[in-house]
Amino acid sequence: MRIVFLGPPGAGKGTQAARLAVLRGVPHISTGDILRTAIARQTPTGIEAQGYVDKGDFVPFEIVLRLVRDRLQEPDAQGGWLLDGFPRNLEQGTAFEALLQELSQTLNTVLYFDVPDEEVVRRLGGRRVCETCGDTFHLEFSPPPAPADCEKGECSVIQRTDDSEDAIRNRLQVYLEETQPLVDHYRALDSLTPVDATSSIEEVNAAVDRAVIGLAG
Ligand code: ADP
Ligand code: ADP
Repeated sequence: MRIVFLGPPGAGKGTQAARLAVLRGVPHISTGDILRTAIARQTPTGIEAQGYVDKGDFVPFEIVLRLVRDRLQEPDAQGGWLLDGFPRNLEQGTAFEALLQELSQTLNTVLYFDVPDEEVVRRLGGRRVCETCGDTFHLEFSPPPAPADCEKGECSVIQRTDDSEDAIRNRLQVYLEETQPLVDHYRALDSLTPVDATSSIEEVNAAVDRAVIGLAG
């Protein structure tokens, strides 16, 4: 299956994509995760991207397109992928369509996670991530384990720098201006599969499963 996860920051895209990836044996490709790893390692790309990510602004188009182009050509992505965080505006959408043609790959659908602003703020405000295993938690809805119970090592749970109040506000504004037109574009093409993402993590799990039933991979 080849699916794009689209929706506002904090809608639960990463949470659901990570789970579906394990279930179906396809990679979860998150441009945000790739950029955060590059920043943590202070690679040239990471150093260039850091200021944008911290503020919640888009990283320059060429950087993100190169990351996605490289990642989609990795051996583990040949049987399908779940793309989370790209494309994010019309310019990226157009480049993505060209890239898929070039790679002779076709998109099954765009899963659209619709969540109202106030819920997004609640989710992002309580979001915590483990620096060791990369898992995502929420202080209220999905509490992190005690350090010793971390599945992949001792959990070191932190708040993302872009989950600060200022950066959250900025990201919501950027979403409205940049990403909403891409949602409308996919809707007009009849490529959008809406998922009611307002309910609990388990209920959204079930809605995602229903939406992708029948898709191979
Ligand atoms: P969230 O899922 O919370 O919206 P992401 O992890 O997808 O956040 O992205 C974090 C940050 O990484 C973004 O705010 C942006 O700075 C950068 N980023 C990720 N994907 C893209 C993209 N497709 N284009 C530009 N910047 C991106
Ligand atoms: P995104 O990738 O869209 O930015 P995440 O998957 O990182 O969103 O989820 C944002 C926060 O909300 C995380 O703390 C996550 O644990 C929590 N979360 C995800 N889905 C739900 C849900 N359905 N109900 C409540 N909290 C959720």
